Amino acid sequence: MNGVKTDYLVIGAGASGLAFVDALIEEADVEVTVIDRRPAPGGHWVDAYPFIRLHSPSAYYGVSSLALGEDRIDECGENAGQYERATGEEVRAYFGAVAERLEGTGKVRILTGHEHIGRGQDGERVRDLRSGEDRDVAVRRKVVDARYLEASVPATHTPSFEVASDARLVPVNDLPAAAGTTSSFTVLGSGKTAVDACVWLLDNGVEPDAIRWVRPRDAWFHDRGHFQPGEQVGATFTGISLDAEAGAHGSDLDDLFGRLEASGRFLRVDPSAKTTMYRGTMLGAHELAAVRRIEDVVRLGRVRRIERDRIVLEAGEVETSADVLHVDCTALGLRNPPPAPIFQPGRIVLQQVRHLSPSFNAALAGFVEAHREDDAEKNRLCPPNPHPIGMEDWPRMVSRTWRTERRWLSEPDVAAWVASSRLNLLRALPEHVAEPEVRTALERYLTHVGPAIERLEQLDSMRSSPS
Ligand SMILES: Cc1cc2nc3c(=O)[nH]c(=O)nc-3n(C[C@H](O)[C@H](O)[C@H](O)COP(=O)(O)OP(=O)(O)OC[C@H]3O[C@@H](n4cnc5c(N)ncnc54)[C@H](O)[C@@H]3O)c2cc1C
Repeated sequence: MNGVKTDYLVIGAGASGLAFVDALIEEADVEVTVIDRRPAPGGHWVDAYPFIRLHSPSAYYGVSSLALGEDRIDECGENAGQYERATGEEVRAYFGAVAERLEGTGKVRILTGHEHIGRGQDGERVRDLRSGEDRDVAVRRKVVDARYLEASVPATHTPSFEVASDARLVPVNDLPAAAGTTSSFTVLGSGKTAVDACVWLLDNGVEPDAIRWVRPRDAWFHDRGHFQPGEQVGATFTGISLDAEAGAHGSDLDDLFGRLEASGRFLRVDPSAKTTMYRGTMLGAHELAAVRRIEDVVRLGRVRRIERDRIVLEAGEVETSADVLHVDCTALGLRNPPPAPIFQPGRIVLQQVRHLSPSFNAALAGFVEAHREDDAEKNRLCPPNPHPIGMEDWPRMVSRTWRTERRWLSEPDVAAWVASSRLNLLRALPEHVAEPEVRTALERYLTHVGPAIERLEQLDSMRSSPS
């Protein structure tokens, strides 16, 4: 790799890096080098737990130019009636095919097992992790940081609590292999991974009363029925219109979430519990019904230490035993670094723009990079919109999406790209506008979206201004 020159050096071959490159080379005649320290393309999916599935349908995930799956509606199983969701293995195979396809264009070189170290004397310093050799890559146009939102996953994170040597803790990745060795389980974590672990246990015949769930916080989830593409886009747009209606009327955060829950837009496992966490994840009816069967829920804050006979938490302790398998689902998932301009001199820092649409956002940045000269204009079309952690992030996130979408509509080329991208969840909307459900949703949305933007921005400013 000595003396390598490239137009773009993309750091990270996950969904974001690959979706960006795919869109960029479709629109521009450029040379791109993609590096990733993992041994294969696909980002966090390379280390995902064995029973993971995409949380959202496959139909609008991945890169623009290659379909993932067949856009099929499942006829049976837990996802019956909704668009198919790829397994982890299918996602990994897909990103492998994407990498091959990109390299096949002759414009892209993908180097897995290569880590970006920083600035070198003659360019960006890249280490070949197999040989240990360092090389400088001269970048003619831009370095693309596609690891800004890098996911922290159970297989590779270090738990933030201590574990005694005679206590049993496994990362969720090892649950299937370890499950047969015990009949008693404690699942640690509040988010979607913990839900997946509980559902896997229940689906594999473990009785609910053999499962304890240590849930430091309770989380809001979306109903997956509101994230359906194609023929079911009406349900998706209904969900968005419910956001607009609640946003226009919510007097404060609790009232807002009360409205969203009452309309079916938001779900939670226990409606009687104080619920503050919101990471933009979704559940289906099967998952919700399953986890509601678990009654032994520990709400004493985060785990500090697991000993042979007790778990010490922030606000108390509970008994455990050497037979109990503790399952670590506490990795953060998407990181939440502070927002930065996406387009900077000599640099692109990929981040969320439209909420909860990682592949779409990275591809949009690739399109905008190819078609606009000025960074200020690129940033106007792609303002960063940080991923949520708590319910207080929802007003900012949703109102920013709506403001940004209006800007896209006033730029014909961007609007045309958005309308045709397979990564756009709403792509099928124009074909369905005559349906009564869609007409009702459109009317609700158009009535409320303007007031909702103003109201949600007010709620957000109340949060950010000192009291
Ligand atoms: C468990 C889980 C499930 C999810 N499911 C969905 C879903 O169903 N639908 C959806 O839309 N979103 C989902 N997401 C959200 C997520 O944004 C996307 O799935 C997406 O895969 C994230 O891709 P990324 O490329 O931004 O980050 P990552 O996948 O984390 O990729 C970043 C890459 O950068 C590499 N890297 C970091 N530093 C360096 C360095 N110095 N040198 C070289 N390489 C480096 C890392 O090795 C990594 O491979 C999920 C997230 C998680 C954690």
